[in-house]
Parts: sequence; C-alpha cells; structure tokens
Amino acid sequence: MSTVARYWREIPQRYRLEAGKCTSCGKVWFPPRRVCGHEGCTNREFETVVLPDEGEVETFTVIHVGPPEFGDLQPYAIGLVKLSDGTRIMSQIVDVVPETVEIGMPVRVEFRKISEEGESGVLKYGYKCVPA
Ligand code: ZN
Repeated sequence: MSTVARYWREIPQRYRLEAGKCTSCGKVWFPPRRVCGHEGCTNREFETVVLPDEGEVETFTVIHVGPPEFGDLQPYAIGLVKLSDGTRIMSQIVDVVPETVEIGMPVRVEFRKISEEGESGVLKYGYKCVPA
C-alpha cells in the first residue's frame, strides 16, 4: 500500500469538505448555511455533498502576524481557493514559501493535524491547501 493511501485511511471519514447543496436552486455553500440566500432563494433544505479536493488559488494574502499557536508557521498565506466544481473555500496555503504563491496556482486540499488538546490528547484536524 502506498504512503498516500495509508495517509488517507488514517484520516477519519468526517474530515472531508462537506458542503450544503440547496435542494431548490442547486447552489453549493461551504461552510453549509441554514438558509440558501442565492439570488433571493429562501430554501432551507440542503443535501450534503463532498467537495472535490482540487482547485486553484483565486485570491490570497500573506499574513505576517498570526495567533501564538501558529507561531512556528509565520508568515503564512491564506486565500480563497476555487475548487474544480466552482465552490470557493477560504484556506491556509501551506508547504510553500508564502511570497511565491500565485493567483491561479493549482492546489490540493489536505487534512492536517492542527493541534493536540489538553491531557486527553484529542487531535484537532483542519483542512489546508498545498501546491498540487
Ligand atoms: Zn437555493
């Protein structure tokens, strides 16, 4: 088994990009919303869809001062990533020198351990984008 396959197997299934797709107009919201609101749509019913994990950087900014828990990551790039299905997500862009991030750069969504909490050692995961 490849390293990549093993990596994905260790990620709990809930760590996927789950979005809400409006059952009325079809607009996909991430994060999911309670009321659609797309072009006046007032529908409150959504079906869960799993977003693709590939996209490209649409806009970004380089953050030079972040919260203390990200101390060793500074500076970092954060931006709006347009996924291959057109859904936009806000994400940190990692594994790249922030100053070399470019609009249109292909990226892939990965789930990373963000921190280990307290004595129980509960792991927190979050998504980040890396160069594809
Ligand atoms: Zn709608």
